[in-house]
Amino acid sequence: MKKNAENNFSSDWVKYSNYEFVQINEETYIKPTEDAEYEIYDPFLVADNILVDILNIGRLAINNEFEVCNSKILEFVRNYGLLGELTFLPLNSNIVYQKKTYLPKGNQFTNKEVVPTEEYLKYFLVADKKKRIGIEVAPNKTIVISNSNEATANIILDKGIEYNIVFSKGYSEKLTWFVEYAQNLYIVFDAIENFGKEDNEYERKMSEVYIKSFVTSNIACRVEMLKEPTLKWDFNSLKLAINTIFLLNETTQKKTVKICKFCGKAFSSQNLKAEYCSLQCRNKANVYKSREKNKK
Ligand SMILES: [Zn+2]
Repeated sequence: MKKNAENNFSSDWVKYSNYEFVQINEETYIKPTEDAEYEIYDPFLVADNILVDILNIGRLAINNEFEVCNSKILEFVRNYGLLGELTFLPLNSNIVYQKKTYLPKGNQFTNKEVVPTEEYLKYFLVADKKKRIGIEVAPNKTIVISNSNEATANIILDKGIEYNIVFSKGYSEKLTWFVEYAQNLYIVFDAIENFGKEDNEYERKMSEVYIKSFVTSNIACRVEMLKEPTLKWDFNSLKLAINTIFLLNETTQKKTVKICKFCGKAFSSQNLKAEYCSLQCRNKANVYKSREKNKK
Protein backbone atom coordinates (compact mmCIF):
# COMPACT_ATOMS: atom_id res chain seq x y z
CA MET A 1 0.00 0.00 0.00
CA LYS A 2 1.43 3.37 -0.92
CA LYS A 3 1.08 5.59 2.07
CA ASN A 4 -0.10 9.11 1.41
CA ALA A 5 -0.24 8.44 -2.31
CA GLU A 6 -4.00 8.67 -2.39
CA ASN A 7 -5.15 8.63 1.22
CA ASN A 8 -3.92 9.81 4.56
CA PHE A 9 -4.35 7.14 7.17
CA SER A 10 -3.73 7.14 10.86
CA SER A 11 -4.35 4.81 13.79
CA ASP A 12 -2.84 3.94 17.20
CA TRP A 13 -1.60 0.78 18.83
CA VAL A 14 0.52 -0.08 21.86
CA LYS A 15 3.67 -2.21 21.79
CA TYR A 16 6.09 -3.13 24.54
CA SER A 17 9.87 -3.01 24.19
CA ASN A 18 10.21 -6.74 24.85
CA TYR A 19 8.15 -9.95 24.86
CA GLU A 20 8.71 -13.54 25.87
CA PHE A 21 7.21 -17.00 25.47
CA VAL A 22 5.68 -18.51 28.61
CA GLN A 23 4.61 -22.16 28.94
CA ILE A 24 1.39 -22.86 30.80
CA ASN A 25 -0.36 -26.24 30.77
CA GLU A 26 1.60 -27.30 27.69
CA GLU A 27 0.52 -24.20 25.79
CA THR A 28 2.84 -21.40 24.70
CA TYR A 29 1.74 -17.82 25.37
CA ILE A 30 3.36 -14.55 24.30
CA LYS A 31 3.46 -11.69 26.80
CA PRO A 32 5.47 -8.54 27.56
CA THR A 33 8.48 -9.13 29.81
CA GLU A 34 8.35 -7.72 33.35
CA ASP A 35 10.87 -4.96 32.61
CA ALA A 36 9.35 -3.93 29.26
CA GLU A 37 8.23 -0.36 28.58
CA TYR A 38 5.26 0.54 26.42
CA GLU A 39 5.22 2.77 23.39
CA ILE A 40 2.32 4.09 21.29
CA TYR A 41 2.76 4.00 17.51
CA ASP A 42 0.81 4.25 14.27
CA PRO A 43 0.66 0.91 12.38
CA PHE A 44 -0.07 2.77 9.14
CA LEU A 45 3.36 4.40 9.18
CA VAL A 46 4.86 0.92 8.83
CA ALA A 47 1.98 -0.66 6.90
CA ASP A 48 4.06 -2.45 4.26
CA ASN A 49 6.55 -3.76 6.82
CA ILE A 50 3.82 -5.21 9.03
CA LEU A 51 2.18 -6.88 6.06
CA VAL A 52 5.41 -8.36 4.67
CA ASP A 53 6.46 -9.62 8.11
CA ILE A 54 3.17 -11.30 9.01
CA LEU A 55 2.83 -12.89 5.55
CA ASN A 56 6.33 -14.34 5.69
CA ILE A 57 5.63 -15.72 9.17
CA GLY A 58 2.63 -17.47 7.61
CA ARG A 59 4.79 -18.83 4.80
CA LEU A 60 7.35 -20.22 7.28
CA ALA A 61 4.55 -21.95 9.20
CA ILE A 62 3.13 -23.49 6.02
CA ASN A 63 6.61 -24.81 5.21
CA ASN A 64 6.84 -26.27 8.76
CA GLU A 65 9.84 -24.11 9.62
CA PHE A 66 8.59 -23.64 13.14
CA GLU A 67 11.84 -22.71 14.84
CA VAL A 68 12.51 -19.75 12.53
CA CYS A 69 8.81 -18.98 12.56
CA ASN A 70 8.75 -18.64 16.36
CA SER A 71 11.75 -16.34 16.45
CA LYS A 72 10.15 -14.22 13.70
CA ILE A 73 6.98 -13.99 15.78
CA LEU A 74 8.94 -12.65 18.76
CA GLU A 75 10.58 -10.14 16.45
CA PHE A 76 7.14 -9.22 15.09
CA VAL A 77 5.58 -8.48 18.49
CA ARG A 78 8.64 -6.49 19.56
CA ASN A 79 8.14 -4.33 16.47
CA TYR A 80 4.37 -4.07 16.41
CA GLY A 81 2.82 -5.46 19.62
CA LEU A 82 0.31 -8.27 20.12
CA LEU A 83 -2.65 -8.76 17.77
CA GLY A 84 -5.41 -7.65 20.15
CA GLU A 85 -7.43 -10.83 19.86
CA LEU A 86 -9.47 -9.85 22.97
CA THR A 87 -11.08 -6.91 21.18
CA PHE A 88 -10.91 -8.37 17.66
CA LEU A 89 -13.06 -11.42 18.23
CA PRO A 90 -16.31 -10.28 19.95
CA LEU A 91 -19.30 -9.49 17.78
CA ASN A 92 -20.53 -6.86 20.24
CA SER A 93 -18.32 -3.86 20.95
CA ASN A 94 -19.19 -2.88 24.50
CA ILE A 95 -18.46 -6.20 26.17
CA VAL A 96 -17.79 -4.80 29.64
CA TYR A 97 -21.00 -2.82 29.93
CA GLN A 98 -23.09 -5.49 28.25
CA LYS A 99 -21.54 -8.10 30.60
CA LYS A 100 -21.88 -10.69 27.86
CA THR A 101 -19.49 -11.43 25.03
CA TYR A 102 -20.88 -12.68 21.72
CA LEU A 103 -18.39 -14.80 19.83
CA PRO A 104 -18.40 -16.08 16.26
CA LYS A 105 -19.13 -19.76 15.65
CA GLY A 106 -16.08 -21.97 15.63
CA ASN A 107 -13.96 -19.60 17.76
CA GLN A 108 -10.81 -20.85 19.45
CA PHE A 109 -12.07 -20.53 23.05
CA THR A 110 -15.35 -22.25 23.50
CA ASN A 111 -18.15 -23.94 21.60
CA LYS A 112 -20.56 -21.45 23.15
CA GLU A 113 -21.51 -18.35 21.23
CA VAL A 114 -22.22 -16.23 24.31
CA VAL A 115 -20.06 -16.17 27.45
CA PRO A 116 -20.10 -13.89 30.50
CA THR A 117 -17.53 -11.13 29.80
CA GLU A 118 -15.82 -11.81 33.12
CA GLU A 119 -15.08 -15.33 31.95
CA TYR A 120 -14.00 -14.19 28.47
CA LEU A 121 -11.48 -11.64 29.77
CA LYS A 122 -9.74 -14.29 31.86
CA TYR A 123 -8.66 -16.24 28.74
CA PHE A 124 -6.16 -13.44 28.15
CA LEU A 125 -4.74 -13.28 31.64
CA VAL A 126 -3.63 -16.89 32.17
CA ALA A 127 0.06 -16.03 31.81
CA ASP A 128 -0.06 -13.22 34.36
CA LYS A 129 1.64 -14.76 37.37
CA LYS A 130 1.51 -11.49 39.30
CA LYS A 131 -2.28 -11.38 38.97
CA ARG A 132 -2.05 -7.65 38.50
CA ILE A 133 -5.46 -7.35 36.92
CA GLY A 134 -8.51 -8.20 38.97
CA ILE A 135 -11.89 -8.85 37.42
CA GLU A 136 -14.86 -8.88 39.74
CA VAL A 137 -18.55 -8.52 39.44
CA ALA A 138 -19.74 -5.92 41.93
CA PRO A 139 -23.03 -6.36 43.86
CA ASN A 140 -24.79 -4.08 41.37
CA LYS A 141 -23.50 -6.52 38.72
CA THR A 142 -21.11 -4.15 36.99
CA ILE A 143 -17.81 -5.68 35.98
CA VAL A 144 -14.91 -4.11 37.83
CA ILE A 145 -11.50 -4.29 36.22
CA SER A 146 -8.85 -3.29 38.72
CA ASN A 147 -5.47 -2.71 37.18
CA SER A 148 -2.74 -2.13 39.72
CA ASN A 149 -0.18 -0.30 37.62
CA GLU A 150 -0.23 -0.08 33.87
CA ALA A 151 -3.41 1.42 32.55
CA THR A 152 -1.36 4.47 31.51
CA ALA A 153 -1.08 3.68 27.80
CA ASN A 154 -4.82 3.39 27.55
CA ILE A 155 -5.45 6.57 29.53
CA ILE A 156 -3.54 8.42 26.80
CA LEU A 157 -5.43 6.65 24.02
CA ASP A 158 -8.78 6.80 25.79
CA LYS A 159 -10.18 3.62 24.27
CA GLY A 160 -12.79 1.40 25.97
CA ILE A 161 -12.12 -0.11 29.38
CA GLU A 162 -11.28 -3.56 27.94
CA TYR A 163 -8.13 -1.99 26.44
CA ASN A 164 -6.83 -1.56 30.00
CA ILE A 165 -6.31 -5.32 29.74
CA VAL A 166 -5.12 -5.48 26.11
CA PHE A 167 -2.46 -2.83 26.77
CA SER A 168 -1.31 -4.18 30.13
CA LYS A 169 1.70 -6.33 30.96
CA GLY A 170 -0.59 -9.07 32.21
CA TYR A 171 -2.15 -9.58 28.76
CA SER A 172 -1.06 -12.56 26.70
CA GLU A 173 -1.97 -14.33 23.47
CA LYS A 174 -1.47 -17.95 22.51
CA LEU A 175 1.31 -18.65 20.04
CA THR A 176 -0.98 -20.94 18.02
CA TRP A 177 -3.49 -18.12 17.39
CA PHE A 178 -0.67 -16.11 15.90
CA VAL A 179 0.58 -18.93 13.72
CA GLU A 180 -2.90 -19.82 12.45
CA TYR A 181 -3.71 -16.21 11.65
CA ALA A 182 -0.45 -15.66 9.73
CA GLN A 183 -0.87 -18.95 7.89
CA ASN A 184 -4.43 -18.14 6.77
CA LEU A 185 -3.44 -14.65 5.70
CA TYR A 186 -0.62 -16.05 3.54
CA ILE A 187 -2.97 -18.62 1.98
CA VAL A 188 -5.41 -15.85 0.98
CA PHE A 189 -2.50 -13.68 -0.24
CA ASP A 190 -1.16 -16.52 -2.38
CA ALA A 191 -4.66 -17.23 -3.72
CA ILE A 192 -5.19 -13.59 -4.75
CA GLU A 193 -1.68 -13.02 -6.11
CA ASN A 194 -1.70 -16.18 -8.20
CA PHE A 195 -5.35 -16.11 -9.15
CA GLY A 196 -5.93 -17.42 -12.66
CA LYS A 197 -2.52 -19.10 -12.74
CA GLU A 198 -3.70 -22.32 -11.08
CA ASP A 199 -2.84 -25.62 -12.75
CA ASN A 200 -6.36 -27.01 -12.77
CA GLU A 201 -10.00 -26.30 -12.11
CA TYR A 202 -9.89 -27.77 -8.58
CA GLU A 203 -7.08 -25.44 -7.52
CA ARG A 204 -8.91 -22.48 -8.97
CA LYS A 205 -12.05 -23.40 -7.02
CA MET A 206 -9.95 -23.71 -3.84
CA SER A 207 -8.46 -20.24 -4.42
CA GLU A 208 -11.99 -18.85 -4.72
CA VAL A 209 -12.97 -20.53 -1.46
CA TYR A 210 -9.95 -19.08 0.39
CA ILE A 211 -10.56 -15.59 -0.94
CA LYS A 212 -14.26 -15.70 -0.05
CA SER A 213 -13.50 -17.01 3.44
CA PHE A 214 -11.49 -13.91 4.29
CA VAL A 215 -14.06 -11.80 6.07
CA THR A 216 -13.14 -9.10 8.48
CA SER A 217 -15.65 -7.16 10.50
CA ASN A 218 -16.13 -4.06 12.58
CA ILE A 219 -14.08 -1.70 10.44
CA ALA A 220 -14.70 1.77 11.77
CA CYS A 221 -13.30 4.99 10.42
CA ARG A 222 -13.95 8.70 10.34
CA VAL A 223 -12.37 11.80 8.84
CA GLU A 224 -10.15 13.86 11.08
CA MET A 225 -9.03 17.29 9.99
CA LEU A 226 -5.31 17.23 10.67
CA LYS A 227 -2.97 19.09 8.31
CA GLU A 228 -4.98 17.48 5.56
CA PRO A 229 -8.26 15.54 5.79
CA THR A 230 -7.13 12.21 7.22
CA LEU A 231 -8.92 8.92 7.41
CA LYS A 232 -8.70 8.07 11.11
CA TRP A 233 -9.29 4.40 11.83
CA ASP A 234 -10.71 3.25 15.13
CA PHE A 235 -9.39 -0.26 14.97
CA ASN A 236 -10.40 -2.66 17.68
CA SER A 237 -7.09 -4.50 17.35
CA LEU A 238 -3.79 -4.73 15.50
CA LYS A 239 -5.28 -7.74 13.74
CA LEU A 240 -8.05 -5.63 12.23
CA ALA A 241 -5.48 -2.99 11.20
CA ILE A 242 -3.45 -5.70 9.43
CA ASN A 243 -6.55 -7.11 7.71
CA THR A 244 -7.42 -3.63 6.43
CA ILE A 245 -3.88 -2.93 5.23
CA PHE A 246 -3.97 -6.32 3.51
CA LEU A 247 -7.28 -5.64 1.75
CA LEU A 248 -6.19 -2.18 0.64
CA ASN A 249 -2.96 -3.63 -0.73
CA GLU A 250 -4.66 -6.45 -2.61
CA THR A 251 -7.22 -4.20 -4.27
CA THR A 252 -5.05 -1.32 -5.48
CA GLN A 253 -3.51 -0.89 -8.93
CA LYS A 254 -0.41 0.43 -7.16
CA LYS A 255 0.37 -2.65 -5.12
CA THR A 256 3.53 -2.34 -3.04
CA VAL A 257 3.43 -5.67 -1.18
CA LYS A 258 3.67 -8.61 -3.58
CA ILE A 259 4.51 -12.28 -3.79
CA CYS A 260 7.91 -13.19 -5.26
CA LYS A 261 7.31 -15.03 -8.53
CA PHE A 262 10.25 -17.30 -7.85
CA CYS A 263 10.31 -18.19 -4.14
CA GLY A 264 6.85 -17.13 -2.91
CA LYS A 265 8.13 -14.76 -0.20
CA ALA A 266 6.17 -11.59 0.42
CA PHE A 267 8.20 -8.46 -0.27
CA SER A 268 7.58 -4.74 -0.60
CA SER A 269 8.79 -2.53 -3.38
CA GLN A 270 7.96 0.99 -4.52
CA ASN A 271 8.74 -0.19 -8.05
CA LEU A 272 5.32 -1.24 -9.28
CA LYS A 273 6.78 -3.60 -11.88
CA ALA A 274 8.97 -5.55 -9.43
CA GLU A 275 8.25 -9.29 -9.58
CA TYR A 276 11.02 -10.82 -7.46
CA CYS A 277 12.03 -10.33 -3.82
CA SER A 278 15.77 -10.20 -4.58
CA LEU A 279 18.38 -10.16 -7.32
CA GLN A 280 19.10 -13.84 -6.60
CA CYS A 281 15.48 -14.80 -7.26
CA ARG A 282 15.38 -12.73 -10.45
CA ASN A 283 18.59 -14.33 -11.72
CA LYS A 284 17.46 -17.85 -10.85
CA ALA A 285 14.12 -17.24 -12.57
CA ASN A 286 15.95 -16.02 -15.68
CA VAL A 287 18.15 -19.13 -15.71
CA TYR A 288 15.03 -21.34 -15.59
CA LYS A 289 13.39 -19.32 -18.32
CA SER A 290 16.35 -19.63 -20.69
CA ARG A 291 16.63 -23.37 -19.94
CA GLU A 292 12.95 -23.76 -20.87
CA LYS A 293 13.61 -21.86 -24.11
CA ASN A 294 16.60 -24.04 -24.98
CA LYS A 295 14.51 -27.17 -24.53
CA LYS A 296 12.10 -25.98 -27.23
ZN1 LIG B 1 12.15 -14.54 -3.95
